[in-house]
Amino acid sequence: APAGPLMRARAEIDLAALRANVHALRQRAPRAELMAVVKSDAYGHGAVRCARTARAAGASWLGTATPEEALALRAAGDQGRVMCWLWTPGGPWREAVEADIDVSVSGLWALREATAAARAAGRPARIHLKADTGLGRNGCQPADWSELVAAARAAEAEGTVRIVGLWSHFACADEPGHPSIAAQLSAFREMVGHAEAQGAEPEVRHIANSPATLTLPDSHFDLVRTGIGMYGISPSPELGTPADFGLRPVMTLAATLALVKQVPGGHGVSYGHHYLTPGETTLALVPVGYADGIPRHASGSGPVLVAGKWRTVAGRVAMDQFVVDLGEDTARVGDEAVLFGPGDRGEPTAEDWAQAVGTIAYEIVTRIGTRVPRVYV
Ligand code: PLP
Repeated sequence: APAGPLMRARAEIDLAALRANVHALRQRAPRAELMAVVKSDAYGHGAVRCARTARAAGASWLGTATPEEALALRAAGDQGRVMCWLWTPGGPWREAVEADIDVSVSGLWALREATAAARAAGRPARIHLKADTGLGRNGCQPADWSELVAAARAAEAEGTVRIVGLWSHFACADEPGHPSIAAQLSAFREMVGHAEAQGAEPEVRHIANSPATLTLPDSHFDLVRTGIGMYGISPSPELGTPADFGLRPVMTLAATLALVKQVPGGHGVSYGHHYLTPGETTLALVPVGYADGIPRHASGSGPVLVAGKWRTVAGRVAMDQFVVDLGEDTARVGDEAVLFGPGDRGEPTAEDWAQAVGTIAYEIVTRIGTRVPRVYV
């Protein structure tokens, strides 16, 4: 445990682990540049500090979903290449162009916004044309691609945009052998080829996320966009453990026990009395709840290391607190409860939480709320 005053709860962020993870990911894709994906406050780890650390470890790009997230990185002093991809009409296009932020364009409406912003800003917008190669989410369908590329080329000729990237995103890169992987790769090659035949000269072609970076060398192209792997979490248990890829989890979530007390058997615990003590026992109060991002339906399943053993959440998770039953064991007020961490000190991992509550580890770390201070170590 780190020195310093006891806190109700803290998310310890191991920046040395983040740095080592960036190095490990770069080794997997030695010929590609690396984009550190720091959207959603770096998956809950703190965007500014993680971005700075990833840059120092060799990430030449930062990636965010929203333009506001990208602008916040600029406001914090980042001056390198930054790209953001989740745009809506009326978004801060002009601010992004003025701040030298690369923007994704998935359709003609977005190209119109980008060119208008470029005129207002008096400089070209740097755009990455996004192809839907099969994800079925954002991106331009193959049938509409040549029209979008032609319009972007026309804007390039008049000096309002520069087509710096051609890109796409995988649907199932975390499922080894899934037939959509090869299909998306060949669609991507084809759409890149068509755009280049129409005169596009992108600096970077990119499609790989963390699972693709770790397992699909053919997908690396010029740039890989890594999020979850940087935070030391395996994209899916099916693919392997973090250690299998030389990655180490970056976040440890710990809380300070707020109360320890004896109760008789048959005592209801927390709202709805979904847990009844099986006999006389010791309960400990863990002062974090769903407002801090602990899933409410972790009742009866969420694992927590208290007094040397894994306990499970007893009764409902409330907004700010939950209870664990220590049984025959004891603990003291002020002792530490570790919800998750790297796992090598006996604590559960974010992956254990994901399995316990039926989600993915991405969601477990990303939802940890702003009320929990991030402590950088
Ligand atoms: N690229 C895009 C467009 C994304 O939305 C994401 C995150 O979901 C990533 C890359 C990074 O994915 P991962 O966290 O699996 O590396």
